[in-house]
Amino acid sequence: MGRSRGTIPIQITGNVKHGGLFEAAFGMTLGELVDDIGGGTATGRPVRAVQVGGPLGAYWPRDLFDTPFDYEAFAAKDGLIGHAGIVVFDDTVDLLKQARFAMEFCAVESCGKCTPCRIGSTRGVEVLDRLKQGIAPEEQIETVTDLCNTMKFGSLCALGGFTPYPVMSALTHFPEDFRPAPVREAAE
Ligand code: SF4
Repeated sequence: MGRSRGTIPIQITGNVKHGGLFEAAFGMTLGELVDDIGGGTATGRPVRAVQVGGPLGAYWPRDLFDTPFDYEAFAAKDGLIGHAGIVVFDDTVDLLKQARFAMEFCAVESCGKCTPCRIGSTRGVEVLDRLKQGIAPEEQIETVTDLCNTMKFGSLCALGGFTPYPVMSALTHFPEDFRPAPVREAAE
């Protein structure tokens, strides 16, 4: 596939029937990896999302499962292959919770050298918590988007720079999870 040649060792885990380490050819679709090699979910429920590339990889919805597994195709859709880990989730997953986990992971792992990562991740957790409580969701979404841009372009290394991938992909592809009911305005 283009500049992604040969094969790659992929690790399939999470809620999946046949988890493990497999060698796959670049160019297979994400859906083929998850459904054919992985065999779908262990629970038998529909696959709703997969995270590709590690804890700082993007979340992918089913409607992007026709994406070929190669570096360029994934980058073109705001994702990354990373270490080629694929974590499978069924339809009970809460993507807001997963986005919060990414921010929390960054806050815990941050070395503290640069502000976007050190402060941004902590503020990110707070903003997502307010969103979970249904407090002024559009305002929180705007803030977390702005925060992710600052972290992506202002962080010194990949920890702060890549944390926006899981957060923004969750927000972009699963927007319904970010507007939980009941919605309350901050002024209330
Ligand atoms: S982005 Fe990297 S250098 Fe900056 S605080 Fe986070 S871990 Fe440290």
